[in-house]
Amino acid sequence: MLNIVLFGPPGAGKGTQSAKLIEKYGLVHLSTGDIFRANIKESTEMGNLAKSYMDQGKLVPDEVTIGMVESEVAKTPEAKGYIFDGFPRNKFQAESLDEFLEILGCSVTLMLALEVEEDELRARLLLRGKDSGRADDVNPVIIQKRIDVYNNETAPVKDYYSAQGKYIGINGVGSIDGIFGELCGAIDRNG
Ligand code: AMP
Repeated sequence: MLNIVLFGPPGAGKGTQSAKLIEKYGLVHLSTGDIFRANIKESTEMGNLAKSYMDQGKLVPDEVTIGMVESEVAKTPEAKGYIFDGFPRNKFQAESLDEFLEILGCSVTLMLALEVEEDELRARLLLRGKDSGRADDVNPVIIQKRIDVYNNETAPVKDYYSAQGKYIGINGVGSIDGIFGELCGAIDRNG
């Protein structure tokens, strides 16, 4: 199985690149943010809970997020692999994913990390907020909170995969196709 963790701060381009990668490699896209937003739309119990954290730019509690990822994976037993987009977001989630994949007899193949400077992220998120319909993209205070949460809680996940020799950094500034080419090159060389 080809299991890619597509990593990076909010606004780095994970969603855009995931859409292209799943098409090229025939993988299942598992975006925790997208699943939470779908649940919010349907007003499920989990959606209502997630919304209270997302609206503040905070992480949804681990037990909710991890349980959700496990049940999504269980829905696609025939998958050739996954693009994990927006997950794992802290070390505990990374360890849980490893344990879960081990039970399934596979593992994370690579972490591809899109690297973008903070000023550029802030500008991209505000621009996206104009038509994304995402409440967390509109307010500069919430945008900054999400970037801070990334720096404090999520960025250390790089070290976790680096220690396993699985981390590859990719410059996330440039044309969509150029960045996609870099990602594909990394997968083809290491996948
Ligand atoms: P995203 O669409 O990846 O930018 O995520 C939007 C929001 O969903 C985040 O700011 C968090 O509140 C929540 N979220 C998404 N993925 C996770 C995760 N792996 N762990 C906890 N919260 C998450």
